[in-house]
Amino acid sequence: MHILTIAVFACMFWYADDPARWKVVTDGDVLWTISLVVGQSILVGLLGWFVSTWVYRQHKNIISAPEKCHARHQRYMAGIRFLGTVLFIVSIVFTNWPVWLAFGKTRPELQIFGDLIAVLPFFISMIALWTVSYPVERALMRESGVGNIDGQPQEGMAWHLSAYLDFQLRHYMFAVAIPMLLILFVANLAIGYENELTQITGWSRMDETLLGVSAGLVFILSPIFLRYIWRTKALERGPLRDRLEAISRCAEFRCRDILVWKSDGMMINAAVMGLFPRVRYVLLSDALLTAMDNDQVEAVFGHEVGHVKLRHMQFFLLFAFVGWLLVAGVMEGGAQLMATTTVTKSNALLAVESVGVISTIVIWGLGFGWISRRFERQADISGAHSATPDGSRCQVPCSVHVPSGQAAVSNLCVCMTGAKVFASALERVAKLNGIPIEEWSWRHASIGKRIRFLLALAGDPSLTLGFHQTIHRIKLTLIILALAGSGITAYYWVVMVEPALLRLQGS
Ligand SMILES: [Zn+2]
Ligand SMILES: [Zn+2]
Repeated sequence: MHILTIAVFACMFWYADDPARWKVVTDGDVLWTISLVVGQSILVGLLGWFVSTWVYRQHKNIISAPEKCHARHQRYMAGIRFLGTVLFIVSIVFTNWPVWLAFGKTRPELQIFGDLIAVLPFFISMIALWTVSYPVERALMRESGVGNIDGQPQEGMAWHLSAYLDFQLRHYMFAVAIPMLLILFVANLAIGYENELTQITGWSRMDETLLGVSAGLVFILSPIFLRYIWRTKALERGPLRDRLEAISRCAEFRCRDILVWKSDGMMINAAVMGLFPRVRYVLLSDALLTAMDNDQVEAVFGHEVGHVKLRHMQFFLLFAFVGWLLVAGVMEGGAQLMATTTVTKSNALLAVESVGVISTIVIWGLGFGWISRRFERQADISGAHSATPDGSRCQVPCSVHVPSGQAAVSNLCVCMTGAKVFASALERVAKLNGIPIEEWSWRHASIGKRIRFLLALAGDPSLTLGFHQTIHRIKLTLIILALAGSGITAYYWVVMVEPALLRLQGS
């Protein structure tokens, strides 16, 4: 769901950058614009209501397991959310909706109000969908026991629509929308006052620099915003916090605070956010803390600490940089090819930019997912390390606590007891969230696969070594690609004077 909100704002940025290029409708097309702007939320709401009731009726008539029905319901709702996002993007690109809201023409600082109104149809669609599907979602959750702890519904679990909407909005919409709107505001100013900025500073790229710096700042400070956009509180002092702090000290991991993520029991999840210790938080959701014992919480915490200590975030940023260079390279190649043909400039630009969008989707869809799934597994190993007991408490055959009580074979090895504690925590996450254990996930792989992998590593130290080598190669490849790509780009810039892509865009 986050990715859909990101797509919506990517579209807004795209449009802000060059509104004229996207105008493919005539000025007088009022009826088409109004029908799409108003119609999208109505369509999403009606479709959501229809599909929800249909799923529930099917569940009642044909006896099928409630948990299967719940998973199916969630899949259909995700499909409708995707449709709503596509409709919204169509309304930005193919109607006069954003043209009517071009307040920036009067004063650039007013454009943000136009942008706020422009994204409203998307927000309304999602609220409509959550509202109409909630009764079925709640009924299926109750019947399937999703979110139950040891067979009992959670205490204080919210069953009210208002709490449900509050959580969904904060979690999936505001968390993305608020930082994005801040950057969009700066983008509007940079675009609107481009000439003034150049005059004052005497530098023609001042607008882009300003935008880049503020986007970086918002990104770095976003954990502070998120802490308040979501409902959180500091984890209370007590034995659990002491144990988590001990793990942090041991791993030389620093963060600003360990927070409880309040979701009224709706979310069993943990996360870490922040590039730098001063703006870094570890989040453990309320339901996770009630559902797991201290050993399991420690394992989950160790997984999050692992992401930081293994610098996964930095390598994701490097991946984004390499991806950006690759797309720019492909687009430049396309632009050069187009320059040798008789295609009109506007068609050539459309072709080159379409290739750019497609290659971005391919690089992220395949490359990012592939790397992310491997980083998750590496963090799982850290989780198992955090849950590793001392030798006397490890009762199973294990490559760390070798039977004769000798020292560990290697600190890379995974203790079977630690692996089992982490696996049990993962199983809990799946069960309580109602995720089928074998359901594939783009960023995390299926929980079943992760568990089998971790247990296999604990049984065979040579597998662990091989896996660490794979990760090492991934990181090295990213570094080499980034360096080589930067070198080629710099060389190209100096030798070519003006790349074909800029020539095409400038026309
Ligand atoms: Zn993770
Ligand atoms: Zn062991």
